[in-house]
Amino acid sequence: MSRGYNFSAGPAALPLEVLMRIQDELLEWRDARASVMEISHRGAAFVAVAEESERDLRDLLSIPDSYKVLFLPAGATQHFAQLPMNFAKPGQSADYILSGYWSEKAFAQAHASATSRVAASSAESGFVRTPPRAQWQLDPSAAYVHLTSNETIHGVQFHDDVLYDDIGDTGDVPLFADMSSDILSRPIDISRFGVVYASAQKNIGASGLTIMIVREDLLERCPDSIAPIFSYATFAKAGSMPNTPNTFGWYVASLVFEWLKEQGGIAAMAERNAAKANLLYGHIDASEGWYRNPVDPDSRSLMNVPFTLKDPALDATFLAESKAAGLLALKGHRAVGGMRASIYNAMPLAGVEALVDFMRDFARRNG
Ligand SMILES: *Cc1c(COP(=O)(O)O)cnc(C)c1O
Repeated sequence: MSRGYNFSAGPAALPLEVLMRIQDELLEWRDARASVMEISHRGAAFVAVAEESERDLRDLLSIPDSYKVLFLPAGATQHFAQLPMNFAKPGQSADYILSGYWSEKAFAQAHASATSRVAASSAESGFVRTPPRAQWQLDPSAAYVHLTSNETIHGVQFHDDVLYDDIGDTGDVPLFADMSSDILSRPIDISRFGVVYASAQKNIGASGLTIMIVREDLLERCPDSIAPIFSYATFAKAGSMPNTPNTFGWYVASLVFEWLKEQGGIAAMAERNAAKANLLYGHIDASEGWYRNPVDPDSRSLMNVPFTLKDPALDATFLAESKAAGLLALKGHRAVGGMRASIYNAMPLAGVEALVDFMRDFARRNG
């Protein structure tokens, strides 16, 4: 086998055990005598997958009973637009905290379907930190406050102390979080949020699926004036199956949840993720400027690590040689340049060790 260590930002690496299990049961799933892709979503066999996956996710994240778990079609980008359609009254605006590329995208989509405001932004810093809470200008009559817990491209993350202490009480205005690139990487206090949602292709499974954890009372806001298929209340009422769901994506997510439980759950993943990130940032910081990460240490992402080389003329060589060494997809996003290593749950410590060894050797060879 010539699979490499895959540092792709998304769609991202899946655990090898999960891929092998999919391969193993692709033609004949359980006792269906057919593939999981080829059976009715309404049959008892698939409904069992739906129920098991929800139960596992509830266990993994300790989701309170007062929250619904929805398995939704499409990626987070579509839900950027659907959030205000569902949760803002006509004329009511929502507050957006901008900490990088994805929160800007969320704001732009929301603004196209309802009035939204920027309540804080760290754009002037070049998005190298989350906007300090003291600078947030919240509207007490906003429909919700939206933030992006981890900026996949800028490598900026709201750390636990900020999420659970600094932000403080937002009063009657619920906090919504796009957690596409850090859900399941660390424990979450769900009760702190009105809505948590995530595209699946970073830390959950395959693309085209969004998982939403929504406080039940908020679903009462979903208006009858929108088409039922855009209403989250429709999905909540129908067990996420008002129509045919992405059954294969849902099945892959269910296997990832099982894998996470086998790994010891989210607290164990958080420890491993911290060890991986510390190793990589430690190497970058100790490289005497050979490698550089621009983000404030207090806001550095444990999932996505952008870095630049001292001499950008070496970028192409770095990418070609790292790829040849089996270290895949290290090219940075065009919005930031340089390199980016995404080290989600499925990246083993050995992959980060191999990257650090390569970086050390590359720096030595190139003076
Ligand atoms: C990848 C990503 C998205 C977009 O997901 P799509 O499935 O492409 O819509 C949104 N937010 C964050 C934080 C992401 O990392």
